[in-house]
Amino acid sequence: MYKCSLQSMTEKIQAFSKFGDTGRGGVTRYALSAEDIQARKEFTKRMEAIGAIIEVDDIANMYATLSGSNPEAKRIVMGSHTDSVKNGGNYDGILGVISAMEVLETVAAQKIPHKHPLTAMIWTNEEGSLYPPAMMASGIVCWDKLPATVKEKFKYDDMMRSKSRLNPSETFGEALERSGYQGDRTYRLDPERYKCMFEIHIEQGPILEDADKDIGVVRCVLGMFNYRFRFRGQAVHAGTFPMTKRKDALFAASQVICYLHEEIDKLGHPELVYTTGEIVCHPCIHTCVPDYVDFSIDVRHESAEVLEKVLSIVKECAKKDWAGCRCEVEKMWNRDTVYWDPELVGYVKKAAEESGVSHQMIHSGAGHDAQFVAYMMPSTMIFVQSKDGLSHCEQEYSSPEHCTSAATVLLNAVLKADKA
Ligand SMILES: [Zn+2]
Repeated sequence: MYKCSLQSMTEKIQAFSKFGDTGRGGVTRYALSAEDIQARKEFTKRMEAIGAIIEVDDIANMYATLSGSNPEAKRIVMGSHTDSVKNGGNYDGILGVISAMEVLETVAAQKIPHKHPLTAMIWTNEEGSLYPPAMMASGIVCWDKLPATVKEKFKYDDMMRSKSRLNPSETFGEALERSGYQGDRTYRLDPERYKCMFEIHIEQGPILEDADKDIGVVRCVLGMFNYRFRFRGQAVHAGTFPMTKRKDALFAASQVICYLHEEIDKLGHPELVYTTGEIVCHPCIHTCVPDYVDFSIDVRHESAEVLEKVLSIVKECAKKDWAGCRCEVEKMWNRDTVYWDPELVGYVKKAAEESGVSHQMIHSGAGHDAQFVAYMMPSTMIFVQSKDGLSHCEQEYSSPEHCTSAATVLLNAVLKADKA
């Protein structure tokens, strides 16, 4: 078993935390910002130092490749994203890039024999914090192979026109041009030149910490659906109109939210998660009974059958009046559960066992770039324990020991894939 270095991982985590440092323990590093470009330059400098060849595709995705004993063999790629949310942490995304770099550095330093070229990769704009949507670059690169419902959201021209949330006069396409990182389309990740992909990511949840496991061997990314509820009532004056005659759209919506919680919980699936995170209220003034409200519901579970049961509860709501208001439901989008390649999952599990890294099987509730890659080539993920399950915030933390254990498992899993 080969081992990655705690010292070298710790140093890299610290070095990359400077790019976009908020001064409060986290980073703001939007895709293609000056801070993101600093991180990309550091990646290039370090990867060139070990003899890796750098390629950049037309969406600014970066690939650093260390040749193998058979330079013609397909490449094995590892990576994640360098961009963050506003006031994000030092691990989400960047840990997958750092771990990939660590694997290449370890292979180079210890002259570990391998047949396939090994590639460390940076995905552009995974968070979509400045230029929505999330997972933009993997959506573009894997577009041909994506299911039709997902394709709709990632049309190339729409992506290039995506407006900056901070400066709506600038589009993603313009930011790409300005960045100096718009390379060649021929370098895009594709199954002709790449054999498989591994992505390390922080768990972003409390399951591994509660179970006292260093890493998670990820089986799948949960299927989900996203629906919108709309309520139409009557706007009247808050002081003059009797309660019994009102059609209050917000009161109706609140009844439905409570009803959904009661009915969905009755299904009795502890791994089922559902969220109302967005609500719109009109006219949203304290002197007026709301005449219009809509809200989102995001539902996630591995089993299509369970999701179907929740969906029938959702649809049932539209058949009734609530507090005198009409209720409509509309599907926004959905995606099926994506299972990781069983062979790669097996390599990760075996590598963890052989390296003495404590682990358990886990699913991913969040989306990641590797899930789009899975439609194109065998892919898998490794999760690292997150302190208190926190992410997308400055308190986000994974210990250097846990991060190094994950990198060690990645290295040995990649070497198994190399031999296969
Ligand atoms: Zn991420």
